[in-house]
Amino acid sequence: TVEHATALDIFDAAATTHPNETFLHYFDGTLTFADIDHAARAVAHTLRNHGFRDGDRLALYVQNNPAFIIGMIAAWKAGGTAVAINPMNKTRELTYLLGDSGAVALLTLDDLYTDIAKPVIDSGAGSVHTVITCSALDFQTRNDERLFTGLTRTHPDDTLDLRTIIDDYTGADLPPVTLTADDVAVLAYTSGTTGNPKGAMNTHGNFAFNAQTYRDWTGLQPGEPILGIAPLFHITGLVGHIMFAMLTRAPLILAHRFDPAVMLDAIREHKPVFTIGAITAFNALAAAPGATPADFTSLRVLYSGGAPIAPAVGDRLEHIFGAYIHNIYGLTETNSPSHAVPLGMRAPVDPVSGALSVGVPVFNTIVRVVDENGDDVPVGEVGEFLTSGPQVVPGYWNKPEATAKSIPGGALHTGDVGFMDTDGWFYVVDRKKDMINASGYKVWPREVEDVLYTHPAVREAAVVGVPDEYRGETVKAYVSLRDGQSANPDELIAYCKTQLAAYKYPRHIDIVDELPKTVTGKILRRELRDNTN
Ligand code: ATP
Repeated sequence: TVEHATALDIFDAAATTHPNETFLHYFDGTLTFADIDHAARAVAHTLRNHGFRDGDRLALYVQNNPAFIIGMIAAWKAGGTAVAINPMNKTRELTYLLGDSGAVALLTLDDLYTDIAKPVIDSGAGSVHTVITCSALDFQTRNDERLFTGLTRTHPDDTLDLRTIIDDYTGADLPPVTLTADDVAVLAYTSGTTGNPKGAMNTHGNFAFNAQTYRDWTGLQPGEPILGIAPLFHITGLVGHIMFAMLTRAPLILAHRFDPAVMLDAIREHKPVFTIGAITAFNALAAAPGATPADFTSLRVLYSGGAPIAPAVGDRLEHIFGAYIHNIYGLTETNSPSHAVPLGMRAPVDPVSGALSVGVPVFNTIVRVVDENGDDVPVGEVGEFLTSGPQVVPGYWNKPEATAKSIPGGALHTGDVGFMDTDGWFYVVDRKKDMINASGYKVWPREVEDVLYTHPAVREAAVVGVPDEYRGETVKAYVSLRDGQSANPDELIAYCKTQLAAYKYPRHIDIVDELPKTVTGKILRRELRDNTN
């Protein structure tokens, strides 16, 4: 087992035993394990020379660029922790995250620095004293106009240049650092639906464990490429892309950010075998201009996590990809997977709610289904998932109260409600806080969405509760339509009415062009709710 190894041990093992194997593809750029090792050591050396000490934090505010991975490994080699920041974040969010994490160093892109990070740092937020920047055009020569329109290399004059650091490094020794499995490898922030985002302290042990989970569950072999469709800052990208690629020595294909046409080119060029991402990313790939099922034949092992899969959508996508999309479930606080559908098996669909199973708990993971008092509910009954295992984070950064509330005694209150069937398959009914209370009846938005997805015209659906004079709350759906299809709200309401109990079917439906989503592709019910109320 690698459970007691650190994430850095996993990288160092690959760099030592297979230095010349490809670790990253970034457009036409190729980086071996030795290249990344050299670059990470160079950055670690620079950080230490600039006063970075054991336990210090390096913030990574960068898209899916090799610099993210170089920075993450450099933080560890310098004895510290990486802070993964969503590159879509703007001034307000960055101000909070730099302050909360107490990062002393920052790695970002030239333009993100100039436009956002510099004003934030100049305003006095956080304690960043060292900034390293690079261009999205580094590590490649293709300069894809679809992503980098008009971008030129303009290195700011008040930051250290990543390329220069790497090129000038002559291999000087680094001070010895001793990391253990209990040290925090990455602070990964929750998206903050219920208040300010919290930094989930993902330890080296959490990462080492779940890297192995991916390797065991997917059967991927060394050299079989991974397509990076999830953002690297998110736990799915951190583990399902970076750590998994390191442990398996599978080349990871990066493309700055998710763009269906660019991804399609990358698939044609590099023939990836595995990918993982939200179901919306699979939908977008399937609809990429010019895509045909023949483009996807190399993709043999597919996992989708982070958001529910409506069974009708899973079936539709299986025809296009020619491979079954396995469900995988977890949270930032569980370092991604706690449950998955075993490779080669198909998840059952619950006959009552119509929900697709999220799988079974992974190795060494115990998931209880509990009621409000923390007592186990009988098999088949709905309660909150309480998850314990080697992937559960020990807590939130600098938030002892939130830690005591959510992770008392090391077991995580997931905020997800669901049940286990008699065969041990788990089903997520919904998120506890998204429940709609219609005249005292509980309505779970998921179930209504799953029904909407079976309608041939529906591309995406989101269901929320809206205030209602008589019922307190009532059910409202937002729907986007598939290209070339039409349907009006009344027709969709009538359709739902035939398949759902009277208190569940939507009383209002709005047809919209696009539903609001997070950068990881999750539909933001919260935003729809806030706009309605
Ligand atoms: P925040 O906790 O701040 O609201 P978030 O929940 O979006 O942010 P993540 O940790 O990325 O942050 O998401 C975890 C949640 O995603 C789970 O609690 C669950 O509700 C949902 N989820 C993840 N995978 C699945 C899946 N396979 N099926 C259904 N829901 C899933």
